[in-house]
Amino acid sequence: AKNEGRNSLYFFSSSLSEGIRERLLLENDLRHAVERNQLVLHYQPQIDLHSGRLVGVEALLRWEHHQLGILSPDRFIPLAEQTGIIGEVGSWVLQEACRQIIQWDREDCYIPRVGVNLAVQQIESGLLVRQVKAAMQQAGIQGERLELEVTESTIMREPDKATEAMKAFRNLGIKLTIDDFGTGYSSLAYLKRLPLDRLKIDRSFVMDIGAHSGNEAICRTIINLARSLGLETVAEGVEEQHHADFLQREGCDIAQGYFYSKPLPPDELAEQCKAWVKSSEC
Ligand code: C2E
Ligand code: CA
Ligand code: CA
Ligand code: CA
Repeated sequence: AKNEGRNSLYFFSSSLSEGIRERLLLENDLRHAVERNQLVLHYQPQIDLHSGRLVGVEALLRWEHHQLGILSPDRFIPLAEQTGIIGEVGSWVLQEACRQIIQWDREDCYIPRVGVNLAVQQIESGLLVRQVKAAMQQAGIQGERLELEVTESTIMREPDKATEAMKAFRNLGIKLTIDDFGTGYSSLAYLKRLPLDRLKIDRSFVMDIGAHSGNEAICRTIINLARSLGLETVAEGVEEQHHADFLQREGCDIAQGYFYSKPLPPDELAEQCKAWVKSSEC
């Protein structure tokens, strides 16, 4: 992809220089985003398909840019990764998620677990385990309250470091999930060796449930693979009732998506959470 970019530079130099200018501006702003308190986490509920209960939330990063408004991670995470800023950003995300868990606890809104996405550089750095421990200690939470999501490509790029970190996380009681499962290449031998808890079925497969029998077969296969490895399955991108019905029928454990809720700012999530608890008590 890097080479493609370089070639197109020659052919489309005038339009690309515009793009490069924007990129440089964004990069410069991103360097200050943490200290200027412009980063926020939104949280998307995860529902247990067996009990209907809220079992956790996934933390999803947003950047409140002073001129451009709220930017979604696809606009700046790749940039953060290419420039190394992801180290600082990732560390902030961990601290903020841990802090938020305790704040919700104090507001009598018990969120069992918060999932955090990890970038490959965080694993490469060798600092991750220490960072996670520090964030937990600073907030005063146990590992049971955290889940870490890594993609197959992250694991496969740094298999030894990933395995080592994951073992340390397992010892802390943190749940470990493979994100976007089915879109990368993971060796089944690794899957068996890693201390994993969950496979997260990628949105692209879930989206086509009811429309594309091949993708239904993929969902079914992932659910069965997970079961035979003793892992739970989470489906992301559940948008419709019939997606949820299919997944429940096939034995998927947990669902997440717009059908239940979009990612919410922390105070809205707390309100939702209280409303859910009330309605399930009635
Ligand atoms: P992801 O981890 O696969 O997160 C799921 C994405 O799907 C989120 O996009 C979420 O808002 C979106 N989504 C949730 N439910 C639905 C649905 O029903 N339909 C559709 N169409 N989309 C749904 P978002 O928040 O824009 O995040 C995009 C990606 O950015 C994430 O994909 C993740 O890879 C990355 N990301 C987000 N936060 C962080 C972070 O703190 N650190 C790192 N390293 N990456 C992050
Ligand atoms: Ca994720
Ligand atoms: Ca995902
Ligand atoms: Ca994804």
